[in-house]
This record gives sequence, C-alpha cells and structure tokens, in this order.
Amino acid sequence: MLTIGAFAKACRLSPKALRLYDELELLRPSRVDPDTGYRYYALDQLEQARLVAWLRRLGMPLSRIRQVCALEPADAAREIRAYWAQVESETAARRDLAEFLIDHLISTPRKDTTMLELHYAAHSDRGRVRPANQDTAYAGTRLLAVADGCGPEGAAASSAAVDALRFLDTAELPAGNVLNLLEEAVQGATEAVRDAADGTGEDTGTTLTALLWTGSRLALVHIGDSRAYLLRDGALFRITDDHTVVQSLIDEGRLTPEEATTHPQRALLLKALSPTTPASPDLRLHDAAPGDRYLLCSDGLSGIVPDAHIRHLLTSTPAPDTAVHALIDAANEAGGPDNVSCVVADVVERGLAG
Ligand code: MG
Repeated sequence: MLTIGAFAKACRLSPKALRLYDELELLRPSRVDPDTGYRYYALDQLEQARLVAWLRRLGMPLSRIRQVCALEPADAAREIRAYWAQVESETAARRDLAEFLIDHLISTPRKDTTMLELHYAAHSDRGRVRPANQDTAYAGTRLLAVADGCGPEGAAASSAAVDALRFLDTAELPAGNVLNLLEEAVQGATEAVRDAADGTGEDTGTTLTALLWTGSRLALVHIGDSRAYLLRDGALFRITDDHTVVQSLIDEGRLTPEEATTHPQRALLLKALSPTTPASPDLRLHDAAPGDRYLLCSDGLSGIVPDAHIRHLLTSTPAPDTAVHALIDAANEAGGPDNVSCVVADVVERGLAG
C-alpha cells in the first residue's frame, strides 16, 4: 500500500488530482483509513492511474474517461479511437471556420463579381411510393432552398421553413455579416416550424438546406440530411455533411460508408428544424466562380441515385430546368421511394444566356 503522496509521485499525478479522481469515482483508493481519512493505493492501481493521466492529456472529458476505464483493453482501445476521430472531425470543422474568417478579414471585394448572376430552376416531386409530398423546393434571384419535412405536419413544416427565408430574396444584404442574417432567418424558420407543427411536437420537423446569393458568394445554411453539391470544372463536390446518426458513426470510425448505405437507421436524423429544439445549423460562405453549378436536393435524390450518375446528369444538361427534371426522372426510374426535390443554379456572367 502506498500513501497518496508516494502514489502520486509514482504515477506523476498530483495528490490534488488523485483526490478529485476519487470524488469523481475515476480512481478510488484501495483503502481509506476510517479514523484519519487518509487514502491508500495498491501498487496494481498504478496502471489505471497512468491511463487516466494519459487520457487527460488527450483532453478527454472525465465522464468519458470513467467509461473507458471500465472497459476491457480491446474495447477501451476502440473507444479511444472513436474519441480521437471525433476530435479530428471537430477540429477540421473549426479549421474551415478559421480559414474562412482569415480570408474574410483580409480579402477585398472582387471587382468583377458584379457581373455575375444566377440562372436557376427548382422542382419537387411526390415520387412513386409516398402518398403525399412533404418536400419543398424554391429558387429565386437570391435564395435557393430545399426542405424535407417529416412527421404528421411535415409538409406544412417544410413549406413554413422555406417561406420564412423568402424575405431574403429581396432583402437588403448587409455587407460583411450575411451569415448572421442567415442565422437569424433560421431562428425565424424554427418559429414558423413550431407554428406549422400545430401541437404535434417533436414528431414534426424538417431539414433545411439553403444558399443565399450575395453577388459574389453563396452563403450556405444547412441542417438535416438534404444536400448541397458543387459541380466545378467537371468534378462534383458535396459541400454539406449529413446530420444523421449513421454519418456520426462513420465520423467516429464505427461504421464504413459502405455499411452505412444499407444501415436500417440510415434516415434517422441527428439534427433538424424541430419545434422543440433550438436550431444549430451549419453556416458557411462559398466563393462563386463563373461556370459553377450548384445542386440542392432532398434525400429522395441522393439516397437512391449514386453521386456518379448525379454528376453525369449535371454535366450533360446545359439548362438548369432540364437538369432538375433529368435528376427527378432518375430518382423515379430507380423506384422513386421518397419525395424528391432538386434546385439547380448556375453562376453565369451577366447578360449571357443560360
Ligand atoms: Mg426525404
């Protein structure tokens, strides 16, 4: 048996830390003297103490350390791998934000961008199976949006969310803080969804993926599993992350993307616009370039038509309207299991025919 001082020295933790870990039930001493209250540790507790110290150095929260310490080595290893994958994915998101802010603070407005405009088309289709269409698709001179409602008032929720953003189509856009404006608009959309849910509570909700054209950039707001893609120079990039349970399992290294495509809970959303929870959407800005083509779609397209085929259809249909209908036809030809909505917008030089 070692006193707390000797044990602290041996495992390179402070006595203060050891007392805290005892209180938090991370590492209980082998014996506590009932008269003096002194703590005594066994030599074979050294390994666990070192593990706790290392996990603290990784930045792992105490509650999670407690879980890891209760596991067998192989399970503990898996848990640490999952934790680290999560840290890296959160760090990547913050790195994107930092890069955006740096760019935003030092960049001067480009002169030629006043010459750009959007040519766009939007359409929503019931699909082949569903009795009603709960999707909403919208495209205007500035605003592009897709929303996929769910629950008893899903159709009302998706259209209320998009309607709540439509003022952006004609609003005066403040220089510099377009993302703040979008974030406020999403709070308005959340309230609109609450009204539309009409007392059905958390069963009703909607995804929302929207782009706001500033004249040189596209501000993105995104929550749920609808998607935004960018076709640039013939390559297709997905610019949104799915807020689904399976995507979080992929990010944590617990599931491969291949396994996810057949996972029984692949449609289960981690986040959506809901009447009962405050919205926490992803927000970011994209620089536009002439020739860029953006696609917004509900999972009725991306869940059934592979990305390679989406890319092929987007590259082989010059007009946005033709592209939208080709994409919806492809979803329906593949069985049309869900409502399907698409918005296609091209960034073109002003005055050029789209
Ligand atoms: Mg859907």
